[in-house]
Amino acid sequence: MQHNTVQKDGGALRQKVENVQLYVNGKFVDAMGGASFDNRNPYTNEVINQVAEGRSEDIKSAVESAKLAFVKGPWGSMKVAERMKYINKIADLIDEEIEEIAMLEALDTGLPISQTKKMTARAAENFRFYARMVQTKLHGDAYAVDDEFINYTVHKPLGVVGLITPWNAPFMLETWKVAPALATGNTVVLKPAELSPLTANKLARVIHKAGLPDGVFNVVHGYGETAGAALVAHPDVSAISFTGETVTGATIIKNAADSLKRTSMELGGKSPLIVFDDADFERALDAAVWGIFSFNGERCTANSRVFIHKNIKDKFIDALKERVANITIGDPMDPSTELGPLIDKGHFQKVTEYIEVARKEGCEVIQGNIPEEIAMGNFVPPTLLLNAANDMKSSQEEIFGPVMSVIEFETEDEVIEAANDVKYGLAGYVWTNDMKRGHRVAQAVEAGMLWVNAQNVRDLRIPFGGMKASGIGREGGHYAMFEFYTEAKVIHVAMGDHHIPQFGKRK
Ligand code: NAD
Repeated sequence: MQHNTVQKDGGALRQKVENVQLYVNGKFVDAMGGASFDNRNPYTNEVINQVAEGRSEDIKSAVESAKLAFVKGPWGSMKVAERMKYINKIADLIDEEIEEIAMLEALDTGLPISQTKKMTARAAENFRFYARMVQTKLHGDAYAVDDEFINYTVHKPLGVVGLITPWNAPFMLETWKVAPALATGNTVVLKPAELSPLTANKLARVIHKAGLPDGVFNVVHGYGETAGAALVAHPDVSAISFTGETVTGATIIKNAADSLKRTSMELGGKSPLIVFDDADFERALDAAVWGIFSFNGERCTANSRVFIHKNIKDKFIDALKERVANITIGDPMDPSTELGPLIDKGHFQKVTEYIEVARKEGCEVIQGNIPEEIAMGNFVPPTLLLNAANDMKSSQEEIFGPVMSVIEFETEDEVIEAANDVKYGLAGYVWTNDMKRGHRVAQAVEAGMLWVNAQNVRDLRIPFGGMKASGIGREGGHYAMFEFYTEAKVIHVAMGDHHIPQFGKRK
């Protein structure tokens, strides 16, 4: 096992990290109630800084300013080309500060810096992508009927949208919502996860610097049950886009029902990766290992269930054991680190308990070792649960850590049935050199996104999202634009004097 023990630039960066305030109506402000909470470094569990704790009164103020900016401000009615200048400017500013943003993310979440850099670059691309998309693709349709009528559609922004985001890959996921919301002309109140406030704060700084009109973009930090719930309940918020746990999603849907809000739900997963005996062994192995141990296993699309054909099972497991023993565990700030600490003590506890559950269920647990020097962090070593069965609790529930259940299969029908025998349906991966089978299995696995001989590469134009308990609705591409962040309106225009029944007219 290789490891690193020094928090390379984290110490220096930590000195510079400011306390986090709310961003409301173009100003950085404390929470009205004056409360704040500690933000901790997952590598050392030391306090990094203080974060203003917004509550319902802060949400109220942020929503009011967002509403004013939408109704009275220039944002919604601004010429598209002009609005896109702001959106592209945000992307440019993210690029300029990419190193610092990536470091803040690694410091705050424990995600390895090599991975946060890629995600920060993608965050900038999220803005450029939606600037292009809205300029070129956001158009209506026209329907002419018998030279008598013309009906046409226009797609109007909703107004104030509430965005609620999780702590895994926070900057990337926030921008994946903020970019289409703003580009389509909405104003925004973002409630980021309480465990990862640093890059949301940086996003507010970047957007402030880009010069967006006051109130167009607001950030209220705080807890889910208070700030998040107040945003969901606010009558002037037209829609909530949520990414997080399935149970939280269900609560939000219930609470949003009272004010009939549109909701988009990107939820948890327990995604299968299926390796047939004719697969390219090394590539399937690379994909299986990367797909669960990258992003510390805290990834919604992680392949936490790996089904291996019985003919290659022993060889595949030997190779998995070797990889697990060699994964570089350590300081998230070190560019060579492959696996960092989990987000906080509570999550560490949850993941550790699941491993014990698996052991009791009869799994053989194979793990890398955490060196003593870094034991102060929330490290869970890369973990294989061998001899797993699909009906075990450890195979059915989302662990959201570096833990892979390894399950043997023999036939295609049997593996499809097992892959689908779970409440989630976010992603799936199929490895085979028989392309007929690749398509067949991909079509049969119940998931929103399937990869055949590929691992998580995707075109931003495609829909992103899950089925079953993994979500409702799709984000990405034109799906976010047409189906979530805009309202389709139809305008019917008569081109002649069509017949209108004459009720009540004297004959
Ligand atoms: P979480 O559900 O605990 O929290 C997510 C956000 O919801 C946070 O900002 C939190 O403060 C807020 N929240 C909590 N309770 C709320 C309430 N009652 N009302 C309003 N807001 C509330 O999720 P998490 O632990 O931060 O994130 C991990 C989860 O996110 C995993 O399940 C993972 O699979 C999922 N996820 C899904 C996707 C996807 O695209 N499908 C992507 C990333 C993460």
